[in-house]
Amino acid sequence: MFEKYKFTVVERFLKYVQIDTQSNPDSLKHPSTEKQKNLSSLLASELLSIGLKDVETDEYGYVYASIPANSHKKVPVICFCSHLDTAPDCSGTNVKPILHKDYKGINIILPDDSTQIISVENYPYLKTHIGHDIITASGQTLLGADDKSGIAIIMDMANYLMLHPEIKHGTIKILFTPDEEIGAGTVNLNLKKLDASVAYTLDGGEAGTLEDETFSADAVKITIEGVIAHPGYGKAKLVNAIKIVGEIAASLPKLDWSPETTDKRQGFVHPVQIEGIAEKASISFIIRDFETHKLAEYEDRLKSIAEKVLVNYPTSSMSFEVVEQYRNMKEVLQHYPNIIAYAEEAYSQAGLNVVKEPIRGGTDGSRLSFMGLPCPNLFTGMQAIHSKHEWIGVKDMKKAVEVLVLLSQIWEVHS
Ligand SMILES: [Zn+2]
Repeated sequence: MFEKYKFTVVERFLKYVQIDTQSNPDSLKHPSTEKQKNLSSLLASELLSIGLKDVETDEYGYVYASIPANSHKKVPVICFCSHLDTAPDCSGTNVKPILHKDYKGINIILPDDSTQIISVENYPYLKTHIGHDIITASGQTLLGADDKSGIAIIMDMANYLMLHPEIKHGTIKILFTPDEEIGAGTVNLNLKKLDASVAYTLDGGEAGTLEDETFSADAVKITIEGVIAHPGYGKAKLVNAIKIVGEIAASLPKLDWSPETTDKRQGFVHPVQIEGIAEKASISFIIRDFETHKLAEYEDRLKSIAEKVLVNYPTSSMSFEVVEQYRNMKEVLQHYPNIIAYAEEAYSQAGLNVVKEPIRGGTDGSRLSFMGLPCPNLFTGMQAIHSKHEWIGVKDMKKAVEVLVLLSQIWEVHS
């Protein structure tokens, strides 16, 4: 089915990564950076030239498009989605992608900064790409495979389907979103305009990985009001909120309950910020677990740890504030077993072993799922994301294009 196809994913990818689309967590605007729209408008014009319908970009930078159905069956409308922005953690300005043909299995020294070495020891997945082509940045920026690989894969899938009308499918929607990396990818999304019943994000790592589970997440802020007095005359009066907050931090369990001591399916409670003055200080936490009901258990335990510290400071007071952040997408996806089953079928038709791993974090897909658009995450091949070591194997990107084409067909076959 794909033997004779001339994939366009690599040339598209090399073009997209050279457009700076870094988002900015400190911006109050949508999109957070205007430059993300440079990629939006390029993609819109390419989608039009491939022959897609309803191609639209808006003031927020979203790109919407449709591949019209060519089947007479009633097929659910599926959507493929990737994000336009790159992470604020590492520069995305002046990215110079390098295509390493026929990779030999050696460490790669990046030419613009020889201290940046992509080593086989640190990235053993490189070994699966020996004899194939890989792409890296040049040493001074990230590559932007997260998530321009997803975009290039979706664009090539659209190109394939438009050139191969013999492959039957329902209406397929394409969505590119700004500001995913700063947690704002769905803020101005128009789900009504999108009008899909199922979506897949293309924002995952190794070939074969399929992610249908994320953390559930809350944030907690404990604020301590001390008692202030002139320090020269504070004896038996002054209660220092900074010291109380420090004591709370020191009372947290040391051997478990932390990101540095947990992995796989374990959750954690993680202090992320302390702020304050002697009179009033606060400590902020993120709370994570795959099982939502455990968050309340963690919060109760955290509260009692803090209250125990406060017992020694009867004139001080404490407030304990919980804010919901996001929820495990599995709670939604379990009600739509076909979404995962069809993806698994596409993977195995493409010759891949399915590896299902829970994401120890959140994705736009978890937000979309709870907004009413169930949305697991598929692989693109991206590795070492958000860093100068970021790289991607060409064969993984091509495999992902195949998966999307097969998946579009599978939804039609089962309808
Ligand atoms: Zn991403």
